Amino acid sequence: NKRSDILGSLLTVGDEILLGDILNTNAHHIAGVLRAHGFRLQRVVVVEDAEEAIALELEQLTAQSRFVIVTGGLGPTDDDRTKWAVTRAFALPMAVDEADLQSLMARVKDRGGEWSDRLGRLAQLPQGATRLAPGRPMAGFSLEHHGVPCYFLPGVPHEMETLLREVVLPDLMHRFPQRPACCQRVLRLYGLMETEINDRLSGFDAVAYGVKVGYLPQTAENWVTLLASATDAEEAQRRLNAAEKELVLLLGEDHVIGRDDESLEKVVGTLLRQRAWKLAVAESCTGGLLAARLTAISGASDYFDRGFVTYSNQAKSQLLGVPEELLQRYGAVSRPVCEAMVQGVLERSKVQAALAVTGIAGPTGGSTQKPVGTVFIGGAVGTRTVVEQHHFQGNRRLVQEQSVQHALALLWR
Ligand code: ATP
Ligand code: MG
Repeated sequence: NKRSDILGSLLTVGDEILLGDILNTNAHHIAGVLRAHGFRLQRVVVVEDAEEAIALELEQLTAQSRFVIVTGGLGPTDDDRTKWAVTRAFALPMAVDEADLQSLMARVKDRGGEWSDRLGRLAQLPQGATRLAPGRPMAGFSLEHHGVPCYFLPGVPHEMETLLREVVLPDLMHRFPQRPACCQRVLRLYGLMETEINDRLSGFDAVAYGVKVGYLPQTAENWVTLLASATDAEEAQRRLNAAEKELVLLLGEDHVIGRDDESLEKVVGTLLRQRAWKLAVAESCTGGLLAARLTAISGASDYFDRGFVTYSNQAKSQLLGVPEELLQRYGAVSRPVCEAMVQGVLERSKVQAALAVTGIAGPTGGSTQKPVGTVFIGGAVGTRTVVEQHHFQGNRRLVQEQSVQHALALLWR
């Protein structure tokens, strides 16, 4: 009585994806939504805006999958070839949807516009196809080919997302009631390398727990994902909970930042709120990124007081009172200056918790003693002050992101 996932395919149409102009966020979104509902993509294909190429993929994907979703190429412009590819792949004549034609003409008349054949094309539809949103010709259509349901959605992400949620998903759920129930969990870990995580989990018997384990390294954080599926939702949840408990035991609770959407800034915010502490930060090489991460959480005003972006030496002494002498002797990227920045924050903002970041984000500006990626991160909670020296790898953005992440972690630990 074991249910298996319903496997489908996704075809994303567009030269702009192949050329690297845009990120294929539709694939990311659709895969996630499907997985949460007991469906799974076995194949994601990106294809150029060419009728023949789209048709070829449609033939292959419908032969291999229980359902097919297509995004992009539905518009009225010459590069929108998807529905023509459908007629070619499935050997269907192109038909005209009379209702569409009437409503399009009425709309053009209302606006006092001129009717064109290009607009008329919007009313064309492969024979047998059904509009996903009646009266909205741009919203796409669905049709069945040899029993395989195919859904043709617009490329524009927010339009695609609405139709997926409101039309495609309900239809798929109705067609495939025998799906496994799925639930998933993300464990966010700090302070363990991926190999260490792997070692600690080497004895974990995923099959016995009925779950799948995934590793997702992030910036200065590692995620372990758990996916449990079962015939009913309760059983899936039970499996997930049991597996999670064992995993946390093996990894060590003190390495778990949080679960699912519990980011460091969220967890740190909760800690600060519980203790009724205020936090202020001073940033040099992160230029406000740390304050931005903290304030991305709604309700941050409960605990976040202020951020100083002190990029120049002058700003460090004027705004934070860092002694000129320290800056001269040790340089802005140094332990003593970082410590002085922390003290400056505490003195000037009268908070209970402070963070300071100073470093070399690169790609230029490094030296042999202080190569690019050298970052000092300081934190104070009450009277205890810590300053850590890091050597981060990666480009400017990555050095900045790692700095922010480790600064937040300093408060969490
Ligand atoms: P339109 O009527 O706007 O032409 P369409 O259905 O023909 O819509 P496309 O022309 O393929 O869709 O894409 C419209 C826009 O949607 C693109 O400019 C792009 O920004 C975005 N887009 C298309 N495909 C994707 C995708 N896979 N991921 C993210 N964005 C996408
Ligand atoms: Mg288009």
